[in-house]
Amino acid sequence: MTIHSYAKINLGLRVLRKRPDGYHDIETVMQTVDLTDTLTVSPQASGTTVTCDDPAVPTDERNLAYRAAELIRSRVGTESGVRVDIQKRIPVAAGLAGGSGNGAVTLIALDRLWDAGLSFDDLLAMADRLGSDVPFCLRGGMAIGRGRGEVVEFLDTACPFAFVLVTPPCAVSTAWAYQQVKIELTNFSSIVNLIISSLHEGDLDRLVVHLRNDLESPVLAHLPVVGRVKQTLIDCGAAGAAMSGSGPTVFGVVPDRLAASRVADRVRQVETTWRVWVAMPVSAREIAERSGR
Ligand code: ATP
Repeated sequence: MTIHSYAKINLGLRVLRKRPDGYHDIETVMQTVDLTDTLTVSPQASGTTVTCDDPAVPTDERNLAYRAAELIRSRVGTESGVRVDIQKRIPVAAGLAGGSGNGAVTLIALDRLWDAGLSFDDLLAMADRLGSDVPFCLRGGMAIGRGRGEVVEFLDTACPFAFVLVTPPCAVSTAWAYQQVKIELTNFSSIVNLIISSLHEGDLDRLVVHLRNDLESPVLAHLPVVGRVKQTLIDCGAAGAAMSGSGPTVFGVVPDRLAASRVADRVRQVETTWRVWVAMPVSAREIAERSGR
């Protein structure tokens, strides 16, 4: 079974408060984009084997696909083994939830392979145990994330714009980024409705005003290259730009694919060590259709 695992970007991310359990409550708007990893899931006699063509990715129990396989095996109570071969295109530890996506699609694939008949709510509960971004990745498309990001409200809103993703050659620890955030106790305004209504209206100028990521300023202070990526995207023609998740990937927003290709070409000429992609938004329905769900 060969399946695609999609990247996501955060169109907005506000950090609301630190919780007693050490995590932070957030409010975010997430959107799936068509940058994908490919996972090949095949039966084997026993146990779980994960391989990955990127040596930066652990293939033992730290891998989210591995943990997803173990979780679903114990739930289903099967002795069957599974092998998951991951072909990585989504940059690792880059704010695009690549690992979370791999965990989510492994849950879906093994529910099918082992004929487990799990409901979407069962899968959501398992996804929640794997990580904050995994529940969103189970369905994808556009969604609001609350709590740690795991309380997901899936939306049918279509994103009418295109993106350019730029990843400079550095990695950011998500835990570190959250620890650095200075939470504004006053003047909190929800960006969710503003972002979603801008998308509904197809109003790019309005959308870019509301792009905001509270993790951005600490990451920028620590990694000035992220600020340079953002400015370069604007200089090369993006209407607006913001960091995704805990970075260091920055996305630029443009009206359509053609504009995205032009901006991407210009950015590639500025700096060859940055990885640059044209990325189109993908709806939950498109993901389901492409995977035969
Ligand atoms: P998020 O946006 O959810 O914070 P991220 O895009 O910043 O995620 P990931 O690419 O998901 O980060 O990887 C974060 C860490 O997770 C990596 O450093 C890696 O060691 C570990 N990891 C576990 N499983 C995977 C996987 N299947 N693919 C990539 N990384 C994985």
